[in-house]
Amino acid sequence: MFIFKKQKDLREFLDGQTGSIGFVPTMGALHEGHISLLQTSKQSCDLSVCSIFVNPTQFNDPKDFEKYPVTIDEDIRLLSEAGTDVLFLPDVAEMYPDGLNGLTAFDIGELDLILEGQFRPGHFNGVCQIVYRLLTAVRPTHLFLGEKDFQQCMVIQQLMKQTGMDISLITCPTLREDSGLAKSSRNARLSPEALEKAALIYSCLNHIKEKKNEAPFPVLREEAMHILHQNGFDTEYLELAESATLRLLDDFSATQSMILLIATRLEGVRLIDNLRV
Ligand code: AMP
Repeated sequence: MFIFKKQKDLREFLDGQTGSIGFVPTMGALHEGHISLLQTSKQSCDLSVCSIFVNPTQFNDPKDFEKYPVTIDEDIRLLSEAGTDVLFLPDVAEMYPDGLNGLTAFDIGELDLILEGQFRPGHFNGVCQIVYRLLTAVRPTHLFLGEKDFQQCMVIQQLMKQTGMDISLITCPTLREDSGLAKSSRNARLSPEALEKAALIYSCLNHIKEKKNEAPFPVLREEAMHILHQNGFDTEYLELAESATLRLLDDFSATQSMILLIATRLEGVRLIDNLRV
């Protein structure tokens, strides 16, 4: 595996390659979910590039940024074992040579006003800042993102359309622990007891899905919120939305594809998940 820290060196190498380039951007602290994206890239592309960069501009909460787990040696081992061709490992000065202030804002529109956008002001603008720079550096033919960050996939799809980038977006399924908990770098910050309890997030989503013909969504949401609260969760949102547009729905619809989305905190760690209904 080649490791590049500078865009110039990365470009020099990639300019000498032919064929399709799959790209998996990450913030490190890698787990099997990240590796599954890489494997999907390897199956469909001639060359697979992964990046690790903990992007300061997407953390609306500075404490979350400070506490973000960093396990770079282990990450390099996992990526190398998975057969990654190239790891791009820039530092902040490389990605933001003009500093972090006064960056031009992207037009995120409605997606910035709901769910993650509403509860993490500035987050998606930070995501767009870094993804635009990474896509410009790597120039992939295919981009692999996890459905766990469902709204992020929609924001990035919109970003690529707005900026005229002709890149195929492949959205990959969420990998879970045996308990059902979505694998996440942030899970490492949970105590063993909280890790067990965190499985309730997915079971609540499943419960709502299973009962959708028996009770209205607001009733099922109340039940789930109550269970989560009793177990020490502090829930930011639990919503039902149209999956094509993320328009929020008051109740289940017989005609639309829907998705449940949740963000909740346990032991101060913010966890998100979703489930198609
Ligand atoms: P992150 O390092 O958390 O920014 O994630 C990098 C990429 O991995 C994003 O596209 C995520 O959606 C994806 N990802 C994170 N967790 C999972 C998971 N459990 N299963 C599949 N993909 C994931």
